[in-house]
Amino acid sequence: MELASLAKTRLMNMTETGCIFCKIVSREINTEFIAETNNTLAFWDITPLAKVHLLVIPKQHHRDVAELSENAPQILSEVLTTATDLAKKYTAGSFKLQFNTGAEAGQTVFHAHAHVLSETAKDGS
Ligand code: 5GP
Ligand code: ZN
Repeated sequence: MELASLAKTRLMNMTETGCIFCKIVSREINTEFIAETNNTLAFWDITPLAKVHLLVIPKQHHRDVAELSENAPQILSEVLTTATDLAKKYTAGSFKLQFNTGAEAGQTVFHAHAHVLSETAKDGS
């Protein structure tokens, strides 16, 4: 196989057809990003459950944080750094960092993501 098609196959394997967060990564679904790093993206949750509620996702598709930790620990570390940087930026310092893992734990989107939740926004609102 040619190098270019090998690279393409590899890229395709990192996305999953029908995954809503992969569609956000590929810009198929238009979303305003609040941060981007080499391997992560962050955006506001569409249904906020707290005054501050944002999501940080790896650009690569991994079904949950357990799979991400096993297959790409360095990217999980980047997700954590992005999440805590944004928590510092948008909250007064108190926040929850949450990874719902498995349907029984409330996971509804099966592309690993961190929720940053806080009732105390930085601007005091
Ligand atoms: P989970 O329940 O899997 O832990 O979290 C998935 C989160 O993704 C939910 O809080 C849900 O509101 C959010 N979400 C689902 N679809 C979209 C979307 O298309 N755009 C944005 N910004 N958030 C989404
Ligand atoms: Zn995905």
